[in-house]
Formats: sequence, C-alpha cells, structure tokens
Amino acid sequence: MTTENISVPEELLSALRRHKRVLIAAHARPDPDAMGSSLAMAWALRSTGLDALVFNEDGLPPFLHFLTLPGPVLTSLDSLPCDPDLVVCLDCGDRARLGETIQPLLDRVPSVNIDHHLDNPLFGTEANWVEPGMAATGELVAYIAKALRAPLHGALAEALYVAISADTGNFSYGNTTPGALRLVAEMVEEGLDLPRLREAMENNWTEARLRLWGRIMQKVRILEDGKLAAALITLEDMKSCNASREDSEGIVEQLRRLSGVRVALMLREEEKDGKIQVKASLRSSGRDNVQKVAAQFGGGGHRNAAGATIALDAEKALAVMQPYIRFVWNRLQ
Ligand code: AMP
Ligand code: MN
Ligand code: MN
Repeated sequence: MTTENISVPEELLSALRRHKRVLIAAHARPDPDAMGSSLAMAWALRSTGLDALVFNEDGLPPFLHFLTLPGPVLTSLDSLPCDPDLVVCLDCGDRARLGETIQPLLDRVPSVNIDHHLDNPLFGTEANWVEPGMAATGELVAYIAKALRAPLHGALAEALYVAISADTGNFSYGNTTPGALRLVAEMVEEGLDLPRLREAMENNWTEARLRLWGRIMQKVRILEDGKLAAALITLEDMKSCNASREDSEGIVEQLRRLSGVRVALMLREEEKDGKIQVKASLRSSGRDNVQKVAAQFGGGGHRNAAGATIALDAEKALAVMQPYIRFVWNRLQ
C-alpha cells in the first residue's frame, strides 16, 4: 500500500466537516497510539477552525506529559456544557474498549470509528475507516490530516510520530509499512526533531519501573520447551515496588527477545471492584497469531500483539491460557 493510493472515505471526511461540536475519544488505558492519534486528530481539526475536545477515561499517561496539548484531556464528561454532535473513536477494536464512562453518550450521539484492529465490528454510526494493514491509528489520522490540508508539523507531527513509532516497535515490527516510513520522512523534512523526541520518550523511567523490571525478570518462566516465556506480576509485586500500570509496559516485548520464544506473555494482576483480575499481553512474530488466543478470552488486537482482561489471578490465567497458546505453533505444523 503506498501513500499515493490511500484515500480517506468520503463519508468520514464529510462527517468531520459537517459537525461542529466534536469529541475525540480513544481506548481506556491509552497507549501512545491511542493518545497520540487523539491529540493529532484534535490538532488537525483545529487547523480547520474547529476546537475539538479530547476525552480519555484514564487521561493523559505520565509518560506522554512532554507532548504539547491542544487542550486538556478530559477524564469526565460532566463538565461538557452540552452533548457533542459527533464522537470520533480512535484505536478501539470494539466499542467497549472506550471505557464505561462514554457508553451512554455513544448510545445517543453519532460516531465515527477509525481503527486498525483485526475483527473491528464497525461500530461507528456515521462512518467506519478500519484498516488492519495500517501500522497505527496514527497513520490513518495522518492521512485524514492531509485530506483536511493540515500541515504535518509542530505538535501535530509529534503526536503522530509518538503514535506510529510506538505501534511499530520503533519501526521494527512486521506492521511497519512503507507508508508509515514515508510519513515520518515527510515530518522530518517539515522539521520534526527526532533526537529530542526519542530522548523524551525513552529516558523517562521511574525508579519503581526499574525495580519492578528487575524483580519480574528474575522470575520469568520459560515453558513449552522454550517456546513460551511468561512474566507473572502479582499485586504484591506491584505494591512492593510502588509500581503503576505504566511501569510494566514494555516487559512483554523484552520476553519476545529470548531466542526460541514464539509467544511472550505478561500477566499483570489488578483489582477491580474488590475482585482480582489479570491483564494479559501477548506478543509473537511473523505468522504466529496471538490475536486468536486473546479473542478466546474476550480480548483482541493484532496478529503479533494482542491483549485481554481475564477474571482470574495470574497463576490460574496462565493455566487456562497455556493450551490455547500451544495452538499458536501447533496450528502451523
Ligand atoms: P497490550 O498488550 O495492552 O499492549 O495490547 C496489545 C494490542 O492488543 C493492542 O493493539 C490493544 O489494542 C489490543 N488489546 C489489548 N487488550 C485488549 C482487550 N482487552 N480487548 C481487545 N483488544 C485488546
Ligand atoms: Mn492502542
Ligand atoms: Mn494502535
């Protein structure tokens, strides 16, 4: 797919041009693609004279505080003077991933759905633009910005770069499209300061993160004759390192680096409404499909990066997931 033959669906552009009170929302617990594409979309709409608001149930993550914001990232809809007339949903493989707060609004307000996940059920009521072949939702937003004649520079470009570089593992995963690379080249030509951005993105570890990584790496389990590496992070691990959810981001990618590993798994316990649950993150390479494993547990994602939330503790979740994970390599033999 080249940049030249990508065309943004006309009904999407028309919805963006027609509505005046736009609310932009991405999945809860935002990763850099969710938040970067939200901010970039707000900047792109602003260049057309429209002040869109950005909402995220869990707000701006601390590791993205260096980005210049088009306005505050709302975590509640209570302060809105009235309903928006359009909700722009970004990077959500299904509607539920937007979180609970926004669901009643989505029942009564038109929406557009812009995403790159497999099996997206096209939940937008006005338009859907879902391209699983795209590296990041940020890539789709870049083409929308171009179609709206918003120049890819300044804070808009920084937000897009953060989105695209994160979802491609800094342009190393199989989803790194020529189009994504061309967009970055174009933004660098427009003055994007890559060394400064990389510095802000990478050299920002908390001590809690360092301690958590040390503790978890020590007890990683190598299973299935070396084909599965699993990191179990208990509530106790999190507490004793004073770690936040963000501090565990990236561990699963490190496990995938072990020679011979086909599936890397992270199971991080968390408490919700007084009950224990586990956030599962799966990673693979090439044709090994972990999205199918996540889908068995009500989650989803992409072929090589997928996730799910399971109402079990980490040990039990590992036990129920292992047979499905085995299927990843057995299917190919
Ligand atoms: P993560 O492991 O959270 O970094 O997520 C990897 C990929 O799986 C991302 O594309 C997520 O959007 C997707 N994903 C993670 N958790 C879920 C879930 N509960 N339901 C659907 N997709 C998910
Ligand atoms: Mn995402
Ligand atoms: Mn994404």
